[in-house]
Amino acid sequence: MTMQRRYRRGDTGPAVAEIRSKLVLLGLLPAGAQAVGTTAGGTDGLGGYADAVFDGSVDLAVRHFQQQRAMTVDGIVGPETYRHLDEARWRLGDRMLSYSAGHMTVGDDVATLQQRLLDMGFDCGRVDGILGPATELALREFQRNYGLGADGTCGPATFRALDRLARTVVGGQPHAMRESELLHRSGPSLAGKTVVIDPGHGGADHGVVAHGLSEAEVVWDLARRLEGRLSALGVQAYLTRGVDVEGIEGINEEERAAFANATDADLVISLHVDRNDSPRAGGVSSYYYGSGSDRYGRRSPTGEHFASLVQRELVARTGMVDGRTHGKAWTLLRRTRMPAVRIELGYLTNADDAARLAGSEFRDHAAESVVVALQRLYLPPDEDVPTGMLRLPVFT
Ligand SMILES: [Zn+2]
Repeated sequence: MTMQRRYRRGDTGPAVAEIRSKLVLLGLLPAGAQAVGTTAGGTDGLGGYADAVFDGSVDLAVRHFQQQRAMTVDGIVGPETYRHLDEARWRLGDRMLSYSAGHMTVGDDVATLQQRLLDMGFDCGRVDGILGPATELALREFQRNYGLGADGTCGPATFRALDRLARTVVGGQPHAMRESELLHRSGPSLAGKTVVIDPGHGGADHGVVAHGLSEAEVVWDLARRLEGRLSALGVQAYLTRGVDVEGIEGINEEERAAFANATDADLVISLHVDRNDSPRAGGVSSYYYGSGSDRYGRRSPTGEHFASLVQRELVARTGMVDGRTHGKAWTLLRRTRMPAVRIELGYLTNADDAARLAGSEFRDHAAESVVVALQRLYLPPDEDVPTGMLRLPVFT
């Protein structure tokens, strides 16, 4: 089932029943809880199925799940939370796994497979729960090494072999080491690097609109300033979308990630501004692919490092409130093969932040912060200088 609308506390119906049963399966909601919400007498004959209620316990379970998965914790089940709920139910061995270019298999069983392959030294990239070409290659390699038919399909014989060998090797974090090794090998110069700049929203989707500003416009302008600076340093910069034109359909996060993967970029920088019901909420925050509480410790170490560099420069150069860095499993961060960072450059719903975001001085400082962070990312540790001090070529 694909879920188009968003379900929240107070909603009822078959979709809510489906959500409840998934939460029960994951042990986040007590079994038997599905019957709660049946009308008096329970005469619908569906055991309360049609009357299932999205009550306080479901809201809590959804928040708990979102927290575990490093998603936005809002207690609302929209398409993204629903997809994660669906992926979470798979255990390794529940189904045959094989690579299909048209429709990649996604789930927790794939994440377990990847973790086991990595533990045994078969490089399948990072643990993201998506069965892509690198995972298939590592699987074939494993099969060849252990005398199994190297068909790239994870079936009963491969499951048994994986089980037997599962705990013989407990590695460090080969995927994490591989990522930093790649970074090291790419050299300290920015010239020749490829960076994808992703101005959020666009088309019919304006993002946050407040204090006379629209997020789509603000981040588009920021993206252009950043693009200009990067091009001047010899960086090949690609934008995920064009200037906002009314009536043009926007692109979703999956499409943005696919675009970045197609360019084979070194890094993805996604630009957004935030909103909050409280006009007092303000400041900048940076997000990378990762989750602290996940049992596989999925994260992008380079993404995390770059997020912390960007965050430090932004706070030092703009004086904005420090909203810190956070690991998230948002689609763009997860689906991109290269390190990706999403920067929320202040709250449009905050009058102070909005006033700054409206000015070109702030936008220049923000763009400069990102470029400096990028230079630091590729700078050997002994050549690094204190935050806020690195000088850039002058732009006129
Ligand atoms: Zn946004």
